[in-house]
Amino acid sequence: MTETLADKAVDTLRGVGPGTRTSLKRLGISTLRDLLFHLPFRYEDRTHLTPLADLNQTGDYLVEGQILSAHPVYSKTPALLVTISDGSAELSLRFFRLRAQQAKVFATGRYIRAFGAVHQLGRSIEMTHPDYQITFDPLGPPAQTLTPIYPATTGISQTRLRNLVNQACALPWPQLEGQPWLALRALHAPIAGNTNAVIEARRTLALDELTAYQLVMNELIRARSAARAQPLPRGPALGRQLLESLGFELTRAQRRVLTEILADLEKPLPMLRLLQGDVGSGKTIVAAFAAIRAAECDCQTAIMAPTELLAGQLHNNFSRWLGGFGIQSALLTSAMPAVEKRRVLKMISTGEAKVVTGTHALIQNQVAFSKLALVVIDEQHRFGVHQRMLLQEKGLTPHQLVMTATPIPRTLSLSMYSDMDVSVIDELPKGRAPIATRIMNQRHRPELLAWLAALIRSGEQSFWVCTLIEANNDIPARAAEESFELLQKELPGIRIGLMHGRLKAEEKASVFERFRQAEIDLLVATTVIEVGVDVLNATAIVIENPERLGLAQLHQLRGRVGRGQRPGHCILLHDGHLSENARERLRALRDCQDGFTLAEKDLELRGPGEVLGTRQTGEDAFQFADPAGDVMLLEQAKVRAARILSDNPELARQLLDTWSTGGHRSLIV
Ligand code: ADP
Ligand code: MG
Repeated sequence: MTETLADKAVDTLRGVGPGTRTSLKRLGISTLRDLLFHLPFRYEDRTHLTPLADLNQTGDYLVEGQILSAHPVYSKTPALLVTISDGSAELSLRFFRLRAQQAKVFATGRYIRAFGAVHQLGRSIEMTHPDYQITFDPLGPPAQTLTPIYPATTGISQTRLRNLVNQACALPWPQLEGQPWLALRALHAPIAGNTNAVIEARRTLALDELTAYQLVMNELIRARSAARAQPLPRGPALGRQLLESLGFELTRAQRRVLTEILADLEKPLPMLRLLQGDVGSGKTIVAAFAAIRAAECDCQTAIMAPTELLAGQLHNNFSRWLGGFGIQSALLTSAMPAVEKRRVLKMISTGEAKVVTGTHALIQNQVAFSKLALVVIDEQHRFGVHQRMLLQEKGLTPHQLVMTATPIPRTLSLSMYSDMDVSVIDELPKGRAPIATRIMNQRHRPELLAWLAALIRSGEQSFWVCTLIEANNDIPARAAEESFELLQKELPGIRIGLMHGRLKAEEKASVFERFRQAEIDLLVATTVIEVGVDVLNATAIVIENPERLGLAQLHQLRGRVGRGQRPGHCILLHDGHLSENARERLRALRDCQDGFTLAEKDLELRGPGEVLGTRQTGEDAFQFADPAGDVMLLEQAKVRAARILSDNPELARQLLDTWSTGGHRSLIV
């Protein structure tokens, strides 16, 4: 394949040495393509110069003036205090952490242009640690484009990133249909006041991205219709026996989806079915019936969960449900000792283990199954086609059951999952009381703790979730650690455990196991517990700073409690600083228990205002398209994909190249 401009290494830009290259690498940037796909998460308006005399309110401003004086001040934080004048008034700029060499540049008489926040300090106004540029002569008019702010990392500044992006944007990019470069350029340097250009560029990219998705979809559908799977006909009625041993009746919805699934399994065509059901609707047991069917036909089932913790829990369920029928279950985790792992791998390759649970590594790694007929993917709420592609590449065509608690509107599932059949569990098991949800200010923390202590003394358990989420991966863990320490002081005599993403897999498993065995009363955790955790004795969940999470995630978290017969409680603990939008979101959660309605509300509250913002969180399968918001665009993409496939194979190849390769986040990476 010929190397295109996009494939060129970032080193080809001016001034990229080994240090910068390493920092860029940490941001996932090695090629010019990666660089252009590294998009700002917000913009600053630095297009207007404000005369110093007009600075009478706090906020961000671009100012300019001549330096009158610069001298160090030795307060709590040492700083350089620089006074400037533009003829209309004077202003003090305060700089921190300047090296001696940097401080020298602030010489009297030079010109400075600075952008930063101003604060009222007594009677005067001060600008704190602005971005700045110093020159011998006055600068020309400011740029008319907005200033992009990028996700950055240590070793590379915003100024540096901007400089590199500018260099890259100036290169002669091809301007053909299906090439993203012009639209990307518009997102890096939008003209101030022209929001339409940003919206238009985002739309163009989203349409291309969705078109590429549809092209992949078409290919998957074509491949599947030609593939053959192991038919799994009805066997000696172990399913009926399981039903009798459960201790509860399946809901009507569970019975309906099960009929749909079992009918698929009898066919020689590989099943590809999405099983959708709200948290607590009982998807797992449905999967167990499918696994029994496979085992009766002497075939294996692989069950994949997003985390090892959930894999462990699923394994417990499956061995409890199926063990009695002589069906062997096995768990494969990365934390397992080598000897144990070898033993399990052997059980899998000989076919002795009929149900194998693990994370997605089950498929990614070279786990050799003897007769794999069914793959169950639990809590798949990213809209990716990743696993489907992967299985296909490996030449495997098992039946697939994908389970999700994320409600997907029907119009959307028709287009997004056009290659899948959909089953919906639309009722909860009988006897579930709604989860009492309260919005509470930290001011009432003492009452909350007293209530929690009483609940725990009565033998129930609780979660305490810390939601702090920052670009820095260490922060949520630290927030949970701090809460953990504080709660230990506040709740003496109560056994408190701590769980976060930085713990090793075996530590996580052990903490979780102790919680399950009720050796821990209160589990302080980050959102790692979000999906699927099922501990019936846990009846309360406190969510700190709930305003940081979206409605869907909050609903998932709340679903961790009230899963048994006892009523659940959810306390949304905020510190009083809630925006109107956040308040409304929390109220929606308090007043509604239905995931489907909440998903729609979430969409409505998110509003059309966010052009780029939320697409940057790394959680989504798409970088530009919003599968929930872009329904119209999705329809357009379908039509376009069909047209391109028949009359423009070159464009099809082009789109697939752009959207399925490269370091940027996209649908297939
Ligand atoms: P989810 O759909 O969120 O994965 P689970 O499969 O974990 O939900 O089920 C939640 C809980 O409800 C489990 O403890 C499960 O055993 C129980 N359960 C499932 N189906 C029923 C039912 N029909 N009646 C009563 N309890 C049920
Ligand atoms: Mg589940």
